Amino acid sequence: MKKDIPAFPQKGFYQHYKHDPQGEPHNYRYEVVGIARHTEDKTFTVLYRPLYKNDWFAPADFQARPLEMFMGSVEKNGATLPRFKKIDDVALVAELQKVRDTLYGAGAAICPTCSSRATFVRFNETHNSKDGTLYTRTDNECKACGTWTSTEVPKN
Ligand SMILES: [Zn+2]
Repeated sequence: MKKDIPAFPQKGFYQHYKHDPQGEPHNYRYEVVGIARHTEDKTFTVLYRPLYKNDWFAPADFQARPLEMFMGSVEKNGATLPRFKKIDDVALVAELQKVRDTLYGAGAAICPTCSSRATFVRFNETHNSKDGTLYTRTDNECKACGTWTSTEVPKN
């Protein structure tokens, strides 16, 4: 890279320093999808999206944070920690890819009323009383018009 261009995070999965191992699945874990550059002031911004229920930015598609802040450190209990840490564990990355695909992939819920992308609300386990099959049910809400949708996938 040219020396006037700062270091970028690689695309992929990251964990914010506030991640709580006892909290809801994948809390404070994110997918970095790219870098944007502002047309006017030429600053760089990191674009990313959460892998857990966190929809304050809806109906936008991504969260954005200044590059320098994304790459920076924070103080916590007297220790200096990176604000975001890349996740490299192969098994965890594979799991996060599935979560990402469920939330944002081709199978992500589209609102039947207004065709906006519906926002993930929660996962549930459901049971089909006829054949005994377990399903993972995903509940979604459209932030544009308020319609709720659910999808069910057999759990293997
Ligand atoms: Zn809608």
